[in-house]
Amino acid sequence: MAEKRPITVATGDGIGPEIMEATLNILEQAGAEIEPEFIDVGEKVYLTGNSTGIPQEAWDSLRRTKVLLKAPITTPQGGGYKSLNVTIRTAMGLYANVRPCVSYHPVVENKHPDMDLVIVRENEEDLYSGIEHQQTPDVVQSLKLISRPGSERIIRHAFEYARKNNRKKVTCLVKDNIMKLSDGLFHQVFKEISAEYPDIEANSYIVDIGMARLADSPEEFDVIVTLNLYGDIASDIAAQIAGSVGLAGSANIGDQIAMFEAIHGSAPDIAGKGIANPSGLLHGAIMMLVHIGQPEAAEKIHNAWLKTIEDGVLTGDIAKGKDAVGTKEFANAVVDRLGQSPSVLAPVVYSKEVEEKQEETTRPNYVPERELDGTDVFLFNNTLTIDEIAEKLTRAAEASHHEFVMMTNRGVKVYPNGFSETFLSDHWRCRFQPSEGKTETQGMIRELLTQIESEELDWIKIENLYRFDGKIAYSLAQGQ
Ligand code: NAD
Repeated sequence: MAEKRPITVATGDGIGPEIMEATLNILEQAGAEIEPEFIDVGEKVYLTGNSTGIPQEAWDSLRRTKVLLKAPITTPQGGGYKSLNVTIRTAMGLYANVRPCVSYHPVVENKHPDMDLVIVRENEEDLYSGIEHQQTPDVVQSLKLISRPGSERIIRHAFEYARKNNRKKVTCLVKDNIMKLSDGLFHQVFKEISAEYPDIEANSYIVDIGMARLADSPEEFDVIVTLNLYGDIASDIAAQIAGSVGLAGSANIGDQIAMFEAIHGSAPDIAGKGIANPSGLLHGAIMMLVHIGQPEAAEKIHNAWLKTIEDGVLTGDIAKGKDAVGTKEFANAVVDRLGQSPSVLAPVVYSKEVEEKQEETTRPNYVPERELDGTDVFLFNNTLTIDEIAEKLTRAAEASHHEFVMMTNRGVKVYPNGFSETFLSDHWRCRFQPSEGKTETQGMIRELLTQIESEELDWIKIENLYRFDGKIAYSLAQGQ
């Protein structure tokens, strides 16, 4: 017999302990080789004054086992309590959020009977890094940071997930017709990595039409990989139209540690009544088994679960007026069907050749040549006219061996040759490049800022302009 794999288990709050007991019972009866290590996180811990809800022993266990199966947690009312999920996700580098969204038609009524897709959402970057600044009275900024390594690992994860879970296609959603650098990088990396997986079909959509198709014809999709914000929205659309929010599991995966859970909350209204549906957590546990290299047990449990609901054994939340069973009876019904397959719903197959560890990217670690090409200086101004600013900036440029190339307001070019109709805020981006025969240096940029200050202009920040391997690596202004 294989050695049992230690896993960290948090039984959670509300219905958590009931659905965890049911889930672990099914896993044990199915022969999953796991050794649970129980930890206390959540409400009780918050109420001891620990604002994260996670005591040191829980971190120690998680870092030892590298896998957490977590029942839902109640976040106490009132301020000061940090989201436990966000804390674990950020502290442990769980960069991939994986959410299967499946229709169980005709058992669970649904407009999209053939829907069976998985959203792989990047979890750490994009607009969610939370770097925001107010720059002028009129204008605030939120930085969207996308990295090549971050894009590589989420996209590779999506393709590896597709292989392990017997899926045939990966679709990328981006808006690179507008965000040519950030979304463009994600799309470029998608093209590179998809070439390494010739057995899996790859396609991409601009996110707006992609989301519209997802809402209208979800059966077209198999695995979707996308940036943090789009993935957040797509996950909710997909879970909602699948009609199975209460049945879905979710995984948060990092290079070293992974967390598996249900997507629903702790349902305090039905806690202790023995009627909660354990299916969401069970689906989280099935994903965990595939992740830790036990796909046979995952497949056995998943097919028994499908057979159970197909046979009309349902908990109250989905029984819709039909006779309902309680949490324990439902779990026992799944156990009774271990080894059986559904006949109306499609049975699942998990790949038997599962690699325990995600492979690191094999692409050589190439560092491109970087050249400084000029700078964008951002100004706050709500008094001077465009021509007055331009006159000062032209002087500052000349005195620091630069050319004043152009000025934009909220990204729209207003100088030279702007339109009087353009709406103006108090936030100006002014582009400078070295004058003929000069090469840009940081010293020249410092001199430029000194000259701008002596013209009594109020600069807020600068963004240097670079070329990478000779290629322009900054956006041109609209109208430039
Ligand atoms: P909820 O998902 O707990 O409940 C919404 C409704 O769905 C309730 O009527 C509930 O009875 C029902 N429901 C949920 N899960 C069910 C199940 N397995 N079986 C049968 N019925 C089920 O959402 P909520 O009421 O907004 O939140 C309750 C608590 O859960 C809050 O403290 C919230 O912060 C927390 N929460 C935790 C997580 C998590 O730990 N991942 C996620 C969401 C919410």
